[in-house]
Amino acid sequence: MKPVIFVLTSSFFCILLTGCSTVPVTGRHELNVISSDQEMQLGLSSFDQLKASTPVSHDPAANAMVQRVASRIAHVAGKDLPNAKWEFVVFDSKEANAFCLPGGKIGVYSGILPIVQTDAGLATVIGHEVGHAVAHHGAERMTEQLGLEELAHLGSSVVSSNYQKAALTAFGVGSKVGLELPHSRKQESEADHIGLMYMARAGYDPKEAVSFWQRFAEYNKQASGSQQSSRFTSYLSGFLRTHPTDEVRIQQLQALLPKAQAEFTNKPAQ
Ligand SMILES: [Zn+2]
Repeated sequence: MKPVIFVLTSSFFCILLTGCSTVPVTGRHELNVISSDQEMQLGLSSFDQLKASTPVSHDPAANAMVQRVASRIAHVAGKDLPNAKWEFVVFDSKEANAFCLPGGKIGVYSGILPIVQTDAGLATVIGHEVGHAVAHHGAERMTEQLGLEELAHLGSSVVSSNYQKAALTAFGVGSKVGLELPHSRKQESEADHIGLMYMARAGYDPKEAVSFWQRFAEYNKQASGSQQSSRFTSYLSGFLRTHPTDEVRIQQLQALLPKAQAEFTNKPAQ
């Protein structure tokens, strides 16, 4: 007989810690022992750290585009992230990155703007990142990573520097949009699904999500081809070669298009 510790399941934890919640849009039940308050604190302090360490872009066109699109996505996502203190910042960096921290702090790196090209392309990226936030993927990931001993101490409201460090990784800060690291494939698909519905509800044609991910797949191919010297990048390119992430993602989005088209009104939600 296996020791009990090895057969602890998510449902066991749900009963023990009442840490189960339901993901908006997809309805999936997830295990999450980090409270919304703790998650929000981690998100806010992570955002402050980032703003102190990364230059903010003052490009008027880039800022106007991000404010315009992010505010429409935030509007339709508002009920799923009711305590959000929305803030949209363009960081001046050639990295093709974006993120949404718990608490509604959205960061877009200027390096992704040439790939998004249009408002609908940007809505795809922001919808996806807000999807991670409303589904509490960072907290879910931290729940999966923390050991039993650490979980036992999480009942208190203490947010230690260890959690802060884990949070930056778990929230996907500093990683490239759409890659499976540090989010899992399950979380990536879920963020795509939620993002597609949000962009449609916000008045952006969901078909444009497919076009964006095709452009992004092309960018990934070129980026991994030209940066083989970096150990991390060569690991990723190998990883991408063996996992047809982009093709699977595009197929999954295409399958969801009829559902998204039904919510697409051509007008931003009021
Ligand atoms: Zn993602």
